[in-house]
Amino acid sequence: MSDFDYDLFVIGGGSGGVRAARVAAATGAKVGLAEEFRMGGTCVIRGCVPKKLMVFASEFNDAFADARAYGWDVGDGTFNWADLRKPLHAELDRLEGIYRRLLNNSEVTIHDARATVAGPHEVALAGGTVVSAKHILVATGGHPSLPDIPGAELGITSNDIFLLDEMPKKILIKGGGYIASEFACILNGLGVEVTQFYRGDQILRGFDDEARALVSEQMVEKGVDLRLGSNAASLKKVDGGIEVTGVDGKIEVFDQVMFATGRRPNTDGLGLEAAGVALGRGGEVVVDDYSQTNIPSIYAIGDVTDRVQLTPVAIREGMAFVETVFKGNPTKVDHELIPSAIFTQPEMGTVGLSEEAAGAQEPVEVYAATFKPMQSSFAGRPDKVLMKLIVSKATRVVLGCHIVGPHAGEMIQLAGIAVKMGATKEQFDQTCAVHPTMSEELVTMKEPVRTT
Ligand code: NDP
Repeated sequence: MSDFDYDLFVIGGGSGGVRAARVAAATGAKVGLAEEFRMGGTCVIRGCVPKKLMVFASEFNDAFADARAYGWDVGDGTFNWADLRKPLHAELDRLEGIYRRLLNNSEVTIHDARATVAGPHEVALAGGTVVSAKHILVATGGHPSLPDIPGAELGITSNDIFLLDEMPKKILIKGGGYIASEFACILNGLGVEVTQFYRGDQILRGFDDEARALVSEQMVEKGVDLRLGSNAASLKKVDGGIEVTGVDGKIEVFDQVMFATGRRPNTDGLGLEAAGVALGRGGEVVVDDYSQTNIPSIYAIGDVTDRVQLTPVAIREGMAFVETVFKGNPTKVDHELIPSAIFTQPEMGTVGLSEEAAGAQEPVEVYAATFKPMQSSFAGRPDKVLMKLIVSKATRVVLGCHIVGPHAGEMIQLAGIAVKMGATKEQFDQTCAVHPTMSEELVTMKEPVRTT
């Protein structure tokens, strides 16, 4: 009989926390979980899921035009946000219900309350109850961070976009990362006039230069007013919208301004410092390879640790935690060669090293093909696709794979298996092409376009 109320208390009901709670409970552990808002966390409630539904919605504009080229008698169609908003939120309610049911079926005790860490083995629930736990798992995620400029409070973030009563006619998006670029494309596809300010010389910093240049070029081609080397210095409420003064002094008025300038870990007021848990400079919980903090009974997973901010990574961190703590099988989280997709239009899928990072590490051969995909080319659209492999000269191992084009996310999931297995270029080439597809280029590129 344990001396604690719980064997495990999880703070945060997002993808990582819910998975860890369920899998731990399946080992026979007594598990409690507290969530202050809605079950499902960023991914389900205000991230990946509603974002992807809006990506689908935003792609119909091109689809209608293509349909006509393929012999269908269809008009332009008009988009009505209210007609999407309602079923979209009904879908989120349904998914939240599933998360709750899964927890209940696993016999995890749900506390719909804010929880804070009150000691190495104590959790305080809003309302005053303090419960004890042998292990505490912090899985509180992150939140969008606003830039420190005058009038920043007038802007919205990705949290607010799904809740808008009306779609803006004209929006400024500030930032050049995943969220800024994805929403620039979504809103552009839905008919919003989109301006995107990015302070650097190319969006999607850190990804393969050739791939991000193609994404950026195609975004502009599709109508996003992308301004590189631009930044907003201040915002002011005026009749008819929000007046934005750029760092270059230029003044423009938009209906809405959206900040997508990075995310910060949710550790404020969580009691972690008082409990002696070490935090990093950005407020993230510092953990070791097993997701353990400097306080042995307290662990942390997911965005709150600011390792790799992706849902499947948080889930894997949760599984490794349970494996380590509840199954007696110490398991490090593997953060190497994580495939990911950026749901811009065109989409980008990537795994492994960029050409620049690989070239800095060792001599490489670069195989790349850029072409017009059959489907949209037939419809007269100027879309372009990129298939690219970075290959080690010494070992022939494919160090990186980068895809820009329709369904790049689906393709990179599969290419990611080969890259994770350490496949060589020759092993890619031994695989027979699937014809006619875009991805057959990945196994038919004979000569490198560059070597370093
Ligand atoms: P990112 O870190 O990807 O991008 C932040 C952007 O904001 C960068 O372009 C950065 O510029 C810019 N920026 C930061 N501070 C300022 C400032 N003060 N003024 C102007 N620009 C600024 O963050 P996101 O918010 O886009 O996304 C957060 C994380 O969420 C991502 O890292 C990703 O892991 C995850 N995510 C994943 C998705 C997916 O898998 N498809 C989708 C959405 C999010 P600079 O480059 O110069 O630093």
